[in-house]
Amino acid sequence: MKLSILDYIPLDLIDCEITQINKVLEGPTLIHIEGDIPNPLFVTTLLHGNETTSFYVLQKLLNDYKDKRPPRDLIIFVGNIEATSLGKRVASDDVDFNRVWCKGDTKYHQVTNDVIEYLKNKNLFASIDIHNNTGANPFYGCINVRSGKFYHLAALFQKKVVYFTEPDGVNSLCFSKICPSITIEAGKSGFPEATVAVYNYVKKVLHLDELRDDYGCDEITLYHTVATIKVNKNRDITVSDEDKELKINPAIEKFNFVPMLKGQLIAKSMNKNDLCVISDEGDDVTSNYLIYHDDCYRVKEMFIPSMLTTNIEVMKKDCLGYVMEKLI
Ligand SMILES: [Zn+2]
Repeated sequence: MKLSILDYIPLDLIDCEITQINKVLEGPTLIHIEGDIPNPLFVTTLLHGNETTSFYVLQKLLNDYKDKRPPRDLIIFVGNIEATSLGKRVASDDVDFNRVWCKGDTKYHQVTNDVIEYLKNKNLFASIDIHNNTGANPFYGCINVRSGKFYHLAALFQKKVVYFTEPDGVNSLCFSKICPSITIEAGKSGFPEATVAVYNYVKKVLHLDELRDDYGCDEITLYHTVATIKVNKNRDITVSDEDKELKINPAIEKFNFVPMLKGQLIAKSMNKNDLCVISDEGDDVTSNYLIYHDDCYRVKEMFIPSMLTTNIEVMKKDCLGYVMEKLI
């Protein structure tokens, strides 16, 4: 896999269908559009091929600058071309393009190292990586450093901000060592309002003179994840009224970033060990958060969840969602 670096806009990309992207770009591509001032904004798109908002934002940006200069240099990385053409999160080799922004010896690491090599002496203004969620979530940003410029970059998108420092290999974590950086989570794929919100955000940052060092964390609501809610992968699971072993509350996604109160139903099952909560340190902390009684899993004490999903494949492969706490 080879990184292509373009100093022009591939015009066919502006109006191609998303699944035809592989007809326009051969593989991972950096598009460097020269602007009025040289310290560039770096934007990452399509690390996950089924998260489509970043593709439509990319098309709008390219269309804007096909015949005029942006206010500062704009460098856009277009990531997983194969996965995007297939409409899948990852390509056939199953490698997650948002876990390879670190040292490593796969062909993906070679590409991300080449991207970093190209950018490292360019005095980047900021880095924005655009994603969608699997479940319904409000828009929010994720940062990996707690300081003014990162808060400011996040607040320009949304006041809801998640702070995390793991796992290694995430794009925004990598760029947080180089410049203010953010992962944008723009709700579920396929909604035009997400494209508009993220496009407006990128334009705002592109036109910004500076990110403020003294931006206060009291101007945002900062969360961090403390634990992961897992399901028993071996169960037959449903999110409807079907008669299956583990029945997840079909309305679960509406609780993302909303306090789940004591007694709230999460799932029904005849089996006691079908849901568990694992802390970031790897300890089983189920009894801190959940009560199992009368075949029901309910909230023990109020907590704020995120990324709760009704997608059974995702909950089995990854998790049902996360437990968060507010950081002050
Ligand atoms: Zn993603």
